[in-house]
Amino acid sequence: MPPDFSEEENRRYARNIMLPQVGIDGQKRWRDARVAVVGAGGIGSAALYYLAAAGVGRIGIIDGDAVETSNLQRQILYDTHDLGRRKVESAWESLTALNPHCVLKLQDKRLDAVNIRDILKENDLVLDASDNFATRLLVADCCWREKIPLVSAAVGGFQGLLLVMDPEPGNPCYRCLLPQEPAPSGREGILGAVAGVMGCLQATEALKLLLGRKSDLTRQLLSYDALRCRFRHLKREKNPDCPLCGQ
Ligand SMILES: [Zn+2]
Repeated sequence: MPPDFSEEENRRYARNIMLPQVGIDGQKRWRDARVAVVGAGGIGSAALYYLAAAGVGRIGIIDGDAVETSNLQRQILYDTHDLGRRKVESAWESLTALNPHCVLKLQDKRLDAVNIRDILKENDLVLDASDNFATRLLVADCCWREKIPLVSAAVGGFQGLLLVMDPEPGNPCYRCLLPQEPAPSGREGILGAVAGVMGCLQATEALKLLLGRKSDLTRQLLSYDALRCRFRHLKREKNPDCPLCGQ
C-alpha cells in the first residue's frame, strides 16, 4: 500500500484504484488536481458531488447566490433546512460530509471581467455549470487565454449540451460555436434529473481529462434529448473568422 494515502483513503478509493485506467497513479492525479466549478446549481450539484466523491483534492466553488425554494427540485447539494443560506457554505457542508479529504475553496461571488482571471488562473481544469450565456462566454474566453481546459455543460427543458474546450491551437474554442451572446430568452423549466445527468457527464469528462486522457468532445458537441432518450454527437469545427481564436 502506498505510504501517502491513509488506510481509510485506500478503502474509500478502492473501486477507483481497481480500475486499470485509474490505478494509484490516477488517484494521486485526482488528489493533486485543482479544479474550479462555476455555478453550484442543478448541474454543479451533481458534478461537485462526483468530483468530491472521486477524491479531487482541491475544488473551487464559485457561486454568488443563496438557496431558494425553487432551487430544490434540481440542486441536490441543498435541502429544505438550507433555504436562505449562502450556496457555497451549504455546498461546503454537503461535500465535506461526503469527503473530508477535499479542500474546498469558496468564492461567494459572481464572476466578472475584473475578477475572473484571478479566480480561475491557478486551476488545472474548469467546469462551467453556470446558467447564462454571458458567464459561459466570460469563462470560455478566460480559459482559452489562460490555456486551461474547460468542460462546459448546459441544460434547458429536457435538453442538455456538453462540450470540452482543449486550448490547443488547431482546436475550436467556445466562440467558434457561439461568436456572440444570444439575445436573452425568458426563464424556462428544467427537469431536475436532466441537470443531474449533465452534471454527471461533465464530472466524468473532467475526471478523464485529469487522468491525462484526451476527450472525444474537443471537436464535438454532445446533445442529450431526454424526452426521446437520445444522445447525439455534432461536429464542431474551428471557425477561421472566430472573434477569439481566428486570424
Ligand atoms: Zn474560436
